[in-house]
Amino acid sequence: MAFYEKYYHKMPDGTIKQINPFSNTEVWCVEERGRKPTINSVPHAPEPLDRREPEDYCHFCETNYIFTPPEKNRVYLDPAGSWKREPFIQSDSLEKYPAEFRRLGNLFEIVTYDYWRMNYGYVMPAFCKEWQDSYLASKKGYDHIMNVLELKLRMIGLDMSGMSEDERILKTAPFFGGCHELLIGRKHFVAGAESHHELCSSGELSPDEHYQYLLLAVDTLLDIYRQNPFVRYISVFQNWLKPAGASFDHLHKQLVGLDEWGVQMSSETESLRGNPNLYNELASNFAIYNSLLIAENDYAMAFTEIGHRFPTVAIYSKSHNCRPFEQTEDEIRGMSDLVHAVHCAITSQTTCNEEWFFAPFDSIYAAPWHILIKLRLHNPAGFEGNTKIYINPISPEKLSRDISEALVERRSAGLIAPGIRVGEEVRRTPNPLKYYLGTLKNISSEGHA
Ligand SMILES: [Zn+2]
Repeated sequence: MAFYEKYYHKMPDGTIKQINPFSNTEVWCVEERGRKPTINSVPHAPEPLDRREPEDYCHFCETNYIFTPPEKNRVYLDPAGSWKREPFIQSDSLEKYPAEFRRLGNLFEIVTYDYWRMNYGYVMPAFCKEWQDSYLASKKGYDHIMNVLELKLRMIGLDMSGMSEDERILKTAPFFGGCHELLIGRKHFVAGAESHHELCSSGELSPDEHYQYLLLAVDTLLDIYRQNPFVRYISVFQNWLKPAGASFDHLHKQLVGLDEWGVQMSSETESLRGNPNLYNELASNFAIYNSLLIAENDYAMAFTEIGHRFPTVAIYSKSHNCRPFEQTEDEIRGMSDLVHAVHCAITSQTTCNEEWFFAPFDSIYAAPWHILIKLRLHNPAGFEGNTKIYINPISPEKLSRDISEALVERRSAGLIAPGIRVGEEVRRTPNPLKYYLGTLKNISSEGHA
């Protein structure tokens, strides 16, 4: 066990020192501080909710389509109950049927349209331009877009009254051809909610709904890449609740196109070049040999990953198809079911971040698609700031045990997808991740003009 000892060391007094094998982050779990609950419970005195249908609690709610940019894609249920999509929605379709999930440009981009335009000479492809032209051609569409633009400018202290028509139109380009996307769920609160804490998180969706939500994110990855050939990687994340960085307590994911791989994937890829079995040795086998397994199905597995500032559950795809959009429907569904199950276990009351990782578009090194769910149970403080040693209040074993126990309960209640094996039921076969047998496909940005 000496190999793992340098990453995961339990001291006689109970302190657990951990080094994250991928980022080298040093984390200690101090037993005295480890007696915190892993999953937040519901408030003792819940604040009653003034229930309104359709919901209008924030700008992401369904009565407020007018406050969000136009939809690049909408996922809805047709009258027969089948899942359907409508890309590039026109303004006259806005109220046709409720959007169970919708994809639209983020009002405040992290990597902006102008960043791509000015640094790379990016122009939006013809299909985006045609959509922009047709959207603005109708009075309803024009009014919607100008309303959103006015709102955006007002929020950053600008006034559009002095702008020429051409300037205004130019400023609407990010809504149609930007590369920072939001995926928003329909529900703010769960059906029948009576209190303010009954928010609709990922785990409150049904497994089917969660699959549609995750599938939309997978398809958006490819859409962004096809739209902008300068994109080398896409950051996919979900901040659940305001303390985790969310602007609204309304379920949404974000995807941000980047012109680099980011520090984390760059460093993982560097290690992968020297050790193609990196993710088995330091993620899944590590979890097997150190009893950190949580759950699995035929396509993915979940376990505690050590050395994170926040208690972290990792969900790894077992597939030899590496990138999310290279996987079969069953494989994507398998990932979705496990991610959903973990969210269901931690409940809507636990603030968390969900972060995705996969092989960048211009990488030749096969890496498994994996998703980390980080539980924001504490705030790093001054000690962390000046030592770079982070205190994580939940030990890896306790996290695995608590989430597994919660999953057994959720499974008995029929809340998670079938086919999930939990705790001791997880198979302990070494090298369960088959990414190293796969090849990465070259994706062309064929949709680009
Ligand atoms: Zn809302």
